[in-house]
Amino acid sequence: MSYVVALDVGGTSMKGGLVTRSGEVTPFAGHPTERERGPAAVVAAIRAYVGELAGYGRARYGAEPSGVGLAVPGIVTSSTAVYSANIGWRDVPAEEFVPGDLPACLGHDVRTGGLAESVFGAGRDTADFLFLPIGTGIAGAVVVRGEPYGGVHGWGGEIGHTTVWPSGEPCACGQIGCLETYASASAVSRRYERRSGRAATAKQVVTLAASGDPVAREVFDEAIEALAISLASYTLLLDPSLIVIGGGLGEAGAVLFDPLRERLAARLAFCDPPELRPAALGVHAGMLGAALLGWQAAGEPGVGADWTPETLLGAR
Ligand SMILES: [Zn+2]
Repeated sequence: MSYVVALDVGGTSMKGGLVTRSGEVTPFAGHPTERERGPAAVVAAIRAYVGELAGYGRARYGAEPSGVGLAVPGIVTSSTAVYSANIGWRDVPAEEFVPGDLPACLGHDVRTGGLAESVFGAGRDTADFLFLPIGTGIAGAVVVRGEPYGGVHGWGGEIGHTTVWPSGEPCACGQIGCLETYASASAVSRRYERRSGRAATAKQVVTLAASGDPVAREVFDEAIEALAISLASYTLLLDPSLIVIGGGLGEAGAVLFDPLRERLAARLAFCDPPELRPAALGVHAGMLGAALLGWQAAGEPGVGADWTPETLLGAR
């Protein structure tokens, strides 16, 4: 049976899997990215992991993988990992990430997740939407006419670094008052701890807010306000039909979605707010998107059009 190797490379760990033409997914335990050992070591670790997964594939399916898809952070084209501040590499050709001469295709990590949500996830019934994973940071994949759009230099979609409070808190990126400084999971946790003196994860802050803890309510409220400001700007600029929220906070449910819907609508005077929907693929979006890239590398870009979250993730 033919299959591809799919890999989602994050700053701290990488998640890999094998995905057949019909959408049978075999996920594997994550590996550390080991970025503290330098960019060359990261590239070598990725190549070794791809080789290991191809070995599992040969044993299971009796054939070489048809292609390899890799979602990587930073600025990236389909053939080159141009730059990543996080990992430190510059201009690494796709071939260096794979052993032998397997065909490989690269994609930007968040846009690759957005591609998966677009083809068979929460955005499958629309061509124009924003995929917004809220995790340690906040990034976005702008999907326009069915394609994730990265702009001229590749940072199109960096909605986490749009300004929400111009005289607000400094962001790690060097700007002031970025959305990410108020509404990422790490920001919610950090801001709660600073005001209350008690440590809590973002998830715990959300639960505390729902149960009436005044500091948690204040911090969570500010996160929602910041999101509403950025999403109102996005709506006015791109007129999407849908905003898909992913990452850890995207799983918060009605506690997040109800007030955010209300605030977003209140900020838009003359147009209707887009629908807000939780992501369908969770933490697997990047790896499943990488599988689509793997089939593109194999010269079969149509594969994946009939996959569904149920068939892909149903076994879990
Ligand atoms: Zn920033």
